[in-house]
Amino acid sequence: MKLSRYNTFFVTNGSHVGYNSLSDTFILMSDELYLLLVPFLEEKKSLELIKDIHPTLSTELVKKGFIVDDNLDELTTALKIAQKTDDDNNQYSIIVNPTMNCNFKCWYCYESHIVGSKMSTKTIDAIKAHISKVLQNKAIKRIHIGWFGGEPLLYYKSVMQPLLKYTKEISECKDVSFISNATTNGFLLTDSIIDNFKKYHLENLQITLDGNRERHNSVRNCKNLKLGTYDAIIQNIKKCAQKGVSVRVRINISNETLNGLKDIINDFAHFTNDEKRYICFSFHEVWQEKIYMYEQITSVIELFRVKGFQVLYKSEHSRSIFNTCYADKRNQVTINYNGDIFKCTARSFNSLNREGYLLDNGDIIWNEKYSKRFSFDLRTRNKACMECAIFPMCNGGCSQHRVENEKVPYCVFDFSESKKVDFLKDKFITRKNTIK
Ligand code: SF4
Ligand code: SF4
Repeated sequence: MKLSRYNTFFVTNGSHVGYNSLSDTFILMSDELYLLLVPFLEEKKSLELIKDIHPTLSTELVKKGFIVDDNLDELTTALKIAQKTDDDNNQYSIIVNPTMNCNFKCWYCYESHIVGSKMSTKTIDAIKAHISKVLQNKAIKRIHIGWFGGEPLLYYKSVMQPLLKYTKEISECKDVSFISNATTNGFLLTDSIIDNFKKYHLENLQITLDGNRERHNSVRNCKNLKLGTYDAIIQNIKKCAQKGVSVRVRINISNETLNGLKDIINDFAHFTNDEKRYICFSFHEVWQEKIYMYEQITSVIELFRVKGFQVLYKSEHSRSIFNTCYADKRNQVTINYNGDIFKCTARSFNSLNREGYLLDNGDIIWNEKYSKRFSFDLRTRNKACMECAIFPMCNGGCSQHRVENEKVPYCVFDFSESKKVDFLKDKFITRKNTIK
């Protein structure tokens, strides 16, 4: 028996906590139990003795992967799991940007709008041809279309609807399940669009609020609308919930928005219990914020939960070797309005960065950027990740991090052990009630 290389032990709120990133489990220990364990962790006592000293603890540590068989090569196991997740052949996922234009002019992305950009009928037909070819592969059991942009609803009728209709029909024909979701600012939603969503299996939306009414309206402006967009968006979210379309309300938090976050819940007070089931709030610190905010927002999260809403915070939906980003997966493409193919949606859609392009017959011509993203060498090149105790949980970030740091050592936690532990503390707090 040996100690897992993926153990981390830390103290939070006076409790000793262990986390194993390969089994993704926590163990909670009293002071007494932890003190008993220390000589084993420091390798001053042979692990074989732990069974005799405390059989229950020993069983628990083995069950949760903190102690593993001598022969287990955990790094190879983790790498194989990551590879298997990325090579998953059961699902095919397409992210479509119908346009790079938007009806909002938020300061942080206004620059990247391309006025007049719109997916042509020719590109829509090429996507249909692509879907038809993909579904010839009998291994595919599920097809997913995600809508992104730009604001995808600008072209609901002319781009989204024909593609949704086609995919629904062909997936039914091939006995493949079809799901769809959209990232939208939520302003253009109407009853008829939401009814259509249900008809075409588009049942999940992500809509962002940039803080409370005052803050949101100052940041997320709609062209030609002086009153702001906050109230209209909340009304539209309610309509979705009434019609059974789930909405993840992403709330961007920063030092400026922190104080007003509690106001938001008052604006959702009129949601019935039934409607609340379709709403999930997801709090995100904007990337410019470098400070650790969990403690400041804990009470806000609690308030939202007490009012009957589901709430997610960063660590609960983090990526891992079991849940890699869509861009890390082979069976995924991001198709821009002009037929350029990308993987990651968090970077510029400039044609110079494309990883391929779509032909009229539905085939994709990939370039060397795509091949590089999937090379095993790139996955294992960063020494820090290969030696890191939380690699299975972190996965080295994602393929985009690996690509961008191809020639330099990197760590998404700035090589800081304390930042990694802070992250585990967040994860622990959010899971605390479920730990046995
Ligand atoms: S930055 Fe990474 S995690 Fe984010 S979308 Fe791109 S590949 Fe995925
Ligand atoms: S990016 Fe950092 S935290 Fe993540 S696996 Fe690599 S070294 Fe560890």
